[in-house]
This record gives sequence, structure tokens and C-alpha cells, in this order.
Amino acid sequence: ANSDKGSLQVRDVSKFFGTFCAVNGVDLEIQRGEFLTLLGPSGSGKTTLLMMIAGFLDITSGDIALDGTSISGVPAEKRNFGMVFQGYALFPHMTVRDNIGYALSVRKRPEAEIREKVDEMLDLVQLVDFADRKPGQLSGGQQQRVALARALCFEPPVLLLDEPLGALDKKLRVEVQDQLKDIHKRVGTTFIYVTHDQEEALSMSDRIVIMRDGAIEQVGTPYELYEKPANEFAAGFLGKSN
Ligand code: ADP
Repeated sequence: ANSDKGSLQVRDVSKFFGTFCAVNGVDLEIQRGEFLTLLGPSGSGKTTLLMMIAGFLDITSGDIALDGTSISGVPAEKRNFGMVFQGYALFPHMTVRDNIGYALSVRKRPEAEIREKVDEMLDLVQLVDFADRKPGQLSGGQQQRVALARALCFEPPVLLLDEPLGALDKKLRVEVQDQLKDIHKRVGTTFIYVTHDQEEALSMSDRIVIMRDGAIEQVGTPYELYEKPANEFAAGFLGKSN
């Protein structure tokens, strides 16, 4: 729906908290429509980088651009990126339909337009039969799909996902992974996905960025990283020891 937008240029971006460097000179070109995963152990700077892309955290130095235009000075609410986080709460008193359409009703879009868009989203995440239920009547995986539909409803150029499956048990994770991958294919939006789970990264991503101590260790397709890890850290992290 928004496939003419959504490339990101991250240029020499750093983040300091006091004297502590959480993100260290990251350079990254993200293609529009790509499923890009930031993969690394806890504390490697994944969330900090994602929050700078979202606009929730100021960058200390460097620049971030959307489709070639700098957005470094643009506040989060004007960037309009979609977001799905672990435990990102749905409104418990609202139906699935109203949860999904929330961002559009806040933007005062016409009722008919909201209805049409929400129907499209319900179909996308395969929850057509659940439109009138409340979140509490859904499974964890279904709730996560409502959050996804809500985040995609206003056609953001980029969707940011931070460990969205972290709270789900193993079996459900694999199921939602497959659905997420399928949804990405159908919607064509740029997805930037943060995880420390290498299986998740390998199974879903077009490209993976391996991070360590705030810096990029390696960037490549799952196949490239698995076949030719740049070093022992990457090899060990991908569960492959040479
Ligand atoms: P990850 O998402 O890879 O687990 P984070 O980006 O959350 O890593 O954190 C990277 C590093 O920055 C960690 O050492 C963390 O403690 C530190 N950090 C994150 N946010 C802050 C903050 N607001 N103040 C100080 N240090 C922070």
C-alpha cells in the first residue's frame, strides 16, 4: 500500500548515554519493502538504534534519512512509523475492530474509509471472524496480530518491531513467525525487527544485521551469514561453530 516509500539511510549514527557509547558509528542502508532484522545479545544496542530510528531517542551524532531526506530533527509523532512491541497493550474495553481503527479515528478520517481499511487489515491478519470480540477473548498470538493490524492500519512507511514475540511460548512463536513473514510479503512495508533469537532472525529476514557492543559485526542475507560468518562471534551467535 505504501511501497513507494520506506527506504532508510543510517549514516555514522552514534548514541552516548553520558560517557557510555550504546551505539557506535552505525552505517546501514535499508531498502524499501525489506524485512531487516537487528540481531545481537542483550545490551548490544539494538533497541537504542530502533528508538533513534523511531524518533523516541535523539541521536548523539550522525544522520538518519527516510527516502533520502533527513529525519534526524523530526519528532516521533511526525515520522509516523508503525510500532509493535512486546506487551504493547491493546485497549481492553474496545473491540478488535475499534483497536485496529484507533489511529484512523484519532486522525478524524471518515467512518466509511475507516471501515474499509479495517476490513482490509482484518483480512490481512486473518481475524475477520473476531472483529467484534474484545482482546481478552483472544489468544496471545491473535492479540499480537491485532497489534500488527493496528500498526499497519495508517499505512506507515516503516514498521518497527521490538521482540514482539518475546512473551509467547515456543510453539506459538513459530506459528506467529510464519504469519508475520506472510503478512510482510503481502503488505510490502519496510519491517525493522529486533530480536536476540537467531532462529527467528534466520527464518524471517531478507537481511540480518549482527550487532555487538553497539557496532555492526556483519550484514547479510540469512544464507550469507550462515555460510560465511565474518568471525567467531557471528558464527557462535548463529549457532554454528567452525
Ligand atoms: P539491546 O536492545 O541490544 O538489548 P539496548 O539498546 O537496550 O541493547 O542497550 C544498549 C546499552 O545501552 C546497554 O548497555 C544499556 O544498558 C545501555 N542503555 C540503554 N538505554 C540507556 C539509558 N537510557 N541510559 C543509560 N544507558 C542505557
